[in-house]
Amino acid sequence: MTTHHAVAGPSVAPADPAVLVSRNPADPADLVVELYACGPEAAVRAVQGARLAQPGWLDSGAAARSEALRRAGDAIEAAADDIAALIVRETGKPLAEARAETTRTAAIWRYYAQLPFDPSGEVHEPAAGPGLLFTRRRPHGVAGLITPWNFPFAIPSWKAAPALAAGNTVVLKPAPEATACALRLAGILGDVLPEGVVQVVPGGARVGEAVVCSADVVSFTGSTTVGEAVVRTATFRGVPVQAEMGGLNAALVLADADIPRAAAHLASAIAGYAGQKCTATSKVVAVGSAHGQLREALAQELRALTAADPGALTTVCGPVVSEAARDRVAAMRDGALSAGAALLAGGGPSGPGGPDKALTGWYIDPVLLEEVPDGHPLLTEEVFGPIAVLQAADDLEHAVRLANAGRHGLVTSLHTGDLEAALYAVDRLDSGMIRINAPSTGVDFHLPFGGEKASSHGMREQGRAALDFYTSLRTVSLLPSGRAA
Ligand code: NAD
Repeated sequence: MTTHHAVAGPSVAPADPAVLVSRNPADPADLVVELYACGPEAAVRAVQGARLAQPGWLDSGAAARSEALRRAGDAIEAAADDIAALIVRETGKPLAEARAETTRTAAIWRYYAQLPFDPSGEVHEPAAGPGLLFTRRRPHGVAGLITPWNFPFAIPSWKAAPALAAGNTVVLKPAPEATACALRLAGILGDVLPEGVVQVVPGGARVGEAVVCSADVVSFTGSTTVGEAVVRTATFRGVPVQAEMGGLNAALVLADADIPRAAAHLASAIAGYAGQKCTATSKVVAVGSAHGQLREALAQELRALTAADPGALTTVCGPVVSEAARDRVAAMRDGALSAGAALLAGGGPSGPGGPDKALTGWYIDPVLLEEVPDGHPLLTEEVFGPIAVLQAADDLEHAVRLANAGRHGLVTSLHTGDLEAALYAVDRLDSGMIRINAPSTGVDFHLPFGGEKASSHGMREQGRAALDFYTSLRTVSLLPSGRAA
């Protein structure tokens, strides 16, 4: 798609003359979209428009809102092949994962389609005397959603669907790298929702800031640095805010684990989608005698997952999203090697973009390092690419300490058949999600999702927890009027 206007239907806010470009990571000469981005003023106007549309949307009733959300799920399913192809083209996500994201997105809309019928409060007995005491939920108004590029349909959907189910209207500020996907989503939603209920404002940081400064509730997903700024601004304004941010996730492999199976899970969590998931594994902690066998098995798995064309159904590791991202991964690898680390997998530039290959693109093969010195940025900062560090722990307590080191706390995977050890770790890991005998990647959209420490701020998203975030809870006391019956 190449266009010079933000024109994906009436719900896309008017444009401002700042050009926004998004390219195919597997073939940077392929311009996926080029358009004039919204300016901050257009974002504010979009919030105002959404605010005007909100009472009508709420008053349309639970059945109408439910039906609209269900139709959104159906429309996504009907366009699934096109959507998956667009995700591959714009974000470099491997086709199998792009298809899975599309299927999940349809399921997300259908799941939230049931929620308008849920109870909106509870009735209680007053502590003393006659009367009625009840709680009642009310939508905040306009939900401002700021989203990253890596799940360009699922993340906007798992924010927008519960916000809409609860009776809010929505302004979505997508990541520039996923503009075409956001416009496609806007087009689909524009067909099934009343005008003005969902508005999309393509643009960069200033447009995001304008949304944060004018919405009634703010939900952000992206990097920790940006998320912390969003939280500060929204908190200063006094509006509810949630932020899902970066991760530096550990995988703990205990001595009793099925090592070949654990190695396969770890390889997919390190290299899948070129490590560009907030839930990707970045630190592998081998406990006791697991170390030797895991070291060999994991290096072998990763060497087999060389970066490849994301359009092929068998590809696990495609390109990274940009040239800067590829250079960042390479610089981390080379910096660690200069600091004394040893390389177990992933040499120089390779994959389809390597000097000896025909294809061009922002490819880098998955990297596994060991003996990375304490304090190296690989052990403290999220790289967001296909790179991981192997560490050895003497025992489980030591492994938990290594997993908890650092400021992030999104997800940890644990590989063991020892129930007692698993429960010991569950109680001690500083992690919002713990996945036992599963890769760290993978999300159940009907359960709360989020992390601890710097990985998350505010209430959880997804599942029923999302409804709590997008509504305020009031307590109502209803006493007899005193008039004779
Ligand atoms: P990013 O932080 O660069 O951008 C996220 C969004 O914020 C984009 O829409 C961007 O345009 C916008 N933005 C940038 N500056 C802003 C500002 N000052 N005010 C308001 N909005 C602003 O992140 P990204 O590169 O798009 O995505 C990758 C990051 O997202 C990684 O750190 C990853 O871990 C994280 N992520 C987290 C989760 C999670 O649920 N925890 C899920 C997916 C991705």
